[in-house]
Amino acid sequence: MATPAQVNSKLSALPLRCRACGTAAEPQANAICGECLGPLDPDYGTDRAYPDRETIAGRARSLWRYHEWLPFNGEPELSLDTGFTPCFEAPALAQRLGVGRVWIKNDSVSHPSLSFKDRVVATAVNAARALGLDTVGCASTGNLANAVAAHAARAGLKAWIFIPHDLEVGKVIGTLVYGPNLVRVRGTYDDVNRLCTQLADRYGWGIVNVNLRGYYGEGSKTVGFEIAEQLGWRLPSAVVAPMAGGSLVTKLEKAFREFLKAGIVRGTPPRIYGTQASGCAPIVNLVESGADRVTPVIPNTIARSIAIGNPADGLFASQAIKTTGGWVAGVSDADLVAGIRLLAETAGVFTETAGGVVVAGALALAKNGRLTEKDEVVLCITGNGLKTIEAVSPDLPDIPLIDAKVKQVAELVEKAGQT
Ligand SMILES: *Cc1c(COP(=O)(O)O)cnc(C)c1O
Ligand SMILES: [Zn+2]
Repeated sequence: MATPAQVNSKLSALPLRCRACGTAAEPQANAICGECLGPLDPDYGTDRAYPDRETIAGRARSLWRYHEWLPFNGEPELSLDTGFTPCFEAPALAQRLGVGRVWIKNDSVSHPSLSFKDRVVATAVNAARALGLDTVGCASTGNLANAVAAHAARAGLKAWIFIPHDLEVGKVIGTLVYGPNLVRVRGTYDDVNRLCTQLADRYGWGIVNVNLRGYYGEGSKTVGFEIAEQLGWRLPSAVVAPMAGGSLVTKLEKAFREFLKAGIVRGTPPRIYGTQASGCAPIVNLVESGADRVTPVIPNTIARSIAIGNPADGLFASQAIKTTGGWVAGVSDADLVAGIRLLAETAGVFTETAGGVVVAGALALAKNGRLTEKDEVVLCITGNGLKTIEAVSPDLPDIPLIDAKVKQVAELVEKAGQT
């Protein structure tokens, strides 16, 4: 039990430590080690107390039920209702894939902005609050823009959001409506990201995926925690997830490792499979080639939400995939559209392009024997299909248009019966 003093304690962000050289740093809006330029991670220390299953199960249904594994001391103050999205079994899809069992971890209905980015922004805005920042921002491929704008609006924080000029209408309107300062940049996401790196220092903003990245990334772990809890406090044998900067895949591996270490679950960590569109597949290339660093690419795919040509966590993602015995899959734009439709028709979930990449990637991995009848597979469906309708609309059938006459319906019914 927390003492009253702890309950009332003010929120503070954890100190940081370099993942590469181990140098310690004060809590701050900076994600790069001053000694070696490695990434700074929150330092949970060695004497932090972790709860048991029953304690967690008794808490509110949000990602904060795992708050001991999130980078703060004291009570979180913002975005308290994000997380704990549905995780449900999809037997018809399992049959189509030819694998044992399949679950959908459905972040397409994440609260409040309909993608898994709500998780990373929930932790980042609390870091901004704890560090006393009044402005947050991001470089975004779309979903992060939606999430930062939404979470900043409800928190009363100012927001500066930078996106590539050619994003889908749904992503742009789904950002602008919350009233942030939204800026379109001529160039790719990687150009936008480079710009934001320069802006963070200049204005003292908390750019969630740049100088707050150490705190931001930890929010992704909650996908893994929820999967373990929702499967009945156990681990699946395989997890398939999309990769953009490579953070989600890296943090899934960390989440399962942390739950095993704390004794929350037992057994073998799931094999982690990362998927990308072949039109922007630098992490797939990295794993398949066995190279020791990322070769950046110029994105050319309709899967814009995961079109990052120079992924910040590419190398860590590839290590997470390899240490768990997983692998990667790159899929064509045509196959990802088919993946969107397959998920909708078998599981009743309308996902965006990134989710199509996951379903198509799982199909490819099953076809080449990496996922089998023995497997229990969780597919991470990270975004909502209504945000990218232009991806799937050209592929869908024509809709009959009739007069309000029974006879005309009868003709349609007859025709449907013949096929
Ligand atoms: C951002 C994003 C991801 C994964 O991003 P990482 O940078 O690899 O963590 C996956 N799916 C969707 C829909 C996203 O918006
Ligand atoms: Zn370092």
